[in-house]
Amino acid sequence: MAELTSQEVVDLTRTLNYGTWRFQKGWMPMHVVDAEGCEIIDGDGKRYLDFSSQLMCSNLGHKNAAVIAAIAEQAQQLAYAMPGYATTARAELSQLLLEVLPQGLNKFFFTTSGTEANEAAFKIARMYTGKNKIIARYRSYHGSTSGSIAATGDPRRWAMEPAGKLPGVIFAPEAFCYRCPLGHAAANCGNACANYIEHMIVNESDVAAVIVEPIVGTNGVIVPPEGYMPRLREICTKHNVLLIADEVMSGWGRTGKWFAMEHWGVAPDILVTAKGITSAYVPLGLCATNEKIAAYFDDHYFSHGHTYEAHPITLKPAVATIKEMQRLGLVERSAELGLYLGEKLRELQTRHVCVGEVRGKGLFWALDLVKNRATKEPFATYADKVSGKALLVDQIAGKCVADGMTVQSWVSHFVIAPPLIVSKEQIDF
Ligand code: PLP
Repeated sequence: MAELTSQEVVDLTRTLNYGTWRFQKGWMPMHVVDAEGCEIIDGDGKRYLDFSSQLMCSNLGHKNAAVIAAIAEQAQQLAYAMPGYATTARAELSQLLLEVLPQGLNKFFFTTSGTEANEAAFKIARMYTGKNKIIARYRSYHGSTSGSIAATGDPRRWAMEPAGKLPGVIFAPEAFCYRCPLGHAAANCGNACANYIEHMIVNESDVAAVIVEPIVGTNGVIVPPEGYMPRLREICTKHNVLLIADEVMSGWGRTGKWFAMEHWGVAPDILVTAKGITSAYVPLGLCATNEKIAAYFDDHYFSHGHTYEAHPITLKPAVATIKEMQRLGLVERSAELGLYLGEKLRELQTRHVCVGEVRGKGLFWALDLVKNRATKEPFATYADKVSGKALLVDQIAGKCVADGMTVQSWVSHFVIAPPLIVSKEQIDF
């Protein structure tokens, strides 16, 4: 077969594929041929600083020798074993997870994505509690399958409604102080949005779990106020409702801690993660449960699984990723450089009146664009996006690409999340 030109690659990709949330006539994907460290390289050899770690997942950057070696070694030794077997890769990863996960999370179910890990979490919560309803929050994203999209609190779930919606999911207000959904002015609200969840639990009954992104990712890097998570933990414990932390994006050092829940010293009952677990070298998701739930499943059959569950080629690179993160001190680096990145982004805010808020933690930030700083009206809405209107964020992102930088834009904000190996010079750029 003759080697394809860059133009042919782009044309074939456009004409024969759905591009995720870009399936539209004008979709013009970049042909990525190579990548190194924090940069990706296109078909013309042009380099781009990747300021969102692709989909907030290439945390170690590209061409990490240890992770690549782990993939090759595992492929040569044992490329696949069905999930019912024990493998060395699985044992090694499980040991390391006990070191880095919040304490008490000690039984693991491996998937190939965050979406599937959330599905497992919902099933576990329902089986364990014998209850049915899941409380999720607006402005959240939990995945793309029927169950996980039903628990997603952003407009992407609307495509599934009403016929395709999984029953039993109900929505709580997001903990978003900049645009408080309950109309409070500042953080002295007494955790009203957490208390509202208690009100829901009491009035709904039959609630199995509350699922939260500890720091909301795609929908704008929303950091809850200080007392929120401890209060939510208290409420869940009081009412025998499981607290599920979806750390698919916020985990693995992204926020300056191994896991975002550590910022508030709160232990979830179930922790779901993916992305940074292998730094996206291979697809892997994890659903981890605490001691008590684990004990229940010692005596109860968990009738759930996948052909590629605990696939050895996904597990071994995760071992290498965690060891590399430990060796390079990337969690501490994320906390330290995150302060610098935050300062630089605030400088941008002083220069550009359209930047309404800069928010984040570690190397996880958002720039929220507004029409008017006083009213905080977003520059664009989801309806503008689906109607195909040209969005300011996309225009700015396009300008960044022209200047040699890629960054994730979403309706009216940017998610800024460089690889954890980013340098100060790259942040300055
Ligand atoms: N949960 C959160 C918080 C996410 O950010 C994502 C993906 O972006 C998912 C779940 C779904 O994970 P995946 O895309 O690996 O299925």
